[in-house]
Amino acid sequence: MPRDGIDHVTVLGAGNMGHGIAEVAAIAGYDVTMRDIEEGIVTDGYGDIEWSLGKLAESGDIEESPDAVLDRIDTTVDLAEAVDGTDFVVEAGPERMDVKRDIFGDLDEFAPADAILATNTSSLSITDISDATDSPERVVGTHFFNPPVRMELVEVIYGAETSDETAETAAALVESFGKTTIYVRKDVNGFVVNSVLGPYMQEPAWMVSAEEATVRGADATLVHERDYPMGPFELGDLTGIDIGYHVRREAGRPVPPIIEEKVEADDLGRKTGTGYYEYEDCPGTDYTAEDAGEFDWFRVEARMVNEAAKLVGDDVAAPEAVDTGMRLGTGFPEGPCRRGDRLGLERALETLRALHGETGEDRYEPADHLVELVESGNTGEEAGRGFHGYDGGT
Ligand code: NAD
Repeated sequence: MPRDGIDHVTVLGAGNMGHGIAEVAAIAGYDVTMRDIEEGIVTDGYGDIEWSLGKLAESGDIEESPDAVLDRIDTTVDLAEAVDGTDFVVEAGPERMDVKRDIFGDLDEFAPADAILATNTSSLSITDISDATDSPERVVGTHFFNPPVRMELVEVIYGAETSDETAETAAALVESFGKTTIYVRKDVNGFVVNSVLGPYMQEPAWMVSAEEATVRGADATLVHERDYPMGPFELGDLTGIDIGYHVRREAGRPVPPIIEEKVEADDLGRKTGTGYYEYEDCPGTDYTAEDAGEFDWFRVEARMVNEAAKLVGDDVAAPEAVDTGMRLGTGFPEGPCRRGDRLGLERALETLRALHGETGEDRYEPADHLVELVESGNTGEEAGRGFHGYDGGT
């Protein structure tokens, strides 16, 4: 159901994410203009929407005909035309700060003064993007997941100046597309989902680099014994080992040697035929349940619990939001707050303290909020309260 006060949505970028966002907005009943920099790219993006709507119609997932939805989508290469009279702009251009700042600078000039300006960035600072405008209070992050048509979660991220009205209008709009939103109340690198996913991907890589684990042992244990939908190395191969590598490098964070080696050898995963597994004329991710067992999974879970405690303690997100984000954004069986409560927060804290003591590495330093929870007796489900409460409420 379209939302009162918003009729027209503009999507900047007709690539992977842009055409998907334009499609979900049009399905929800909004008039959409999709803009890219070249005629051929917008035509391809429009073609991708047409194809996708055909598939949705075949599976009975849309009520209207594809043509009725397509009738609401216009395309252009002209920015002024794209934002003329618009209520809401979603930028889905390339993941480069200079490009995004140029786009947002132009929006000041061309978009109506009361339009909300959203960015779909997955790793850049909303605050730095919003600084390119004269009105950073109307800039917000709306982080859709790939593909937007299928993925239910959208993170709604505050920049330093984002007003509540902007964030709430953005959340309501995205919910009217049939999505579930979580608020990310501070502009932290990785927002919620990628912040928690970081230790899931990185800790096994540190362990393999130190010869404390094997790729197959880690993937098999986390999938077959801990119910994660994909092993961390399997996921790295799927998304491209270079993607996470560059994000960490740009954020000035250490990179586990095994990841560095793969990037240097240009073994980037499925897209190059070799990553942690072999894909050319090979079965690819060939781990089985029999490879599980030897891997110290608790260390990975403890680090995710710690990351969640940082987000909650720093008022970035509520425990419920962290858990919802991980379930819907990554398909985790349950979020790290719920899981931490179940495993026992005291045990997580002890593990982190022991690893921090042994290695001196910052990544094991316990979050203040985790220490506070444990010291106040809120050690999890068994105690009746941890991140969540267990006496009938949360
Ligand atoms: P993409 O490369 O497929 O598409 C980007 C498009 O932006 C290209 O078609 C390009 O021609 C166009 N473009 C360049 N300059 C432009 C301008 N000035 N105005 C309008 N369009 C312009 O990239 P993508 O995968 O769709 O990612 C878009 C954004 O969404 C990025 O910020 C990315 O980080 C984010 N994101 C991507 C994913 C993903 O899995 N692909 C998931 C979540 C968020």
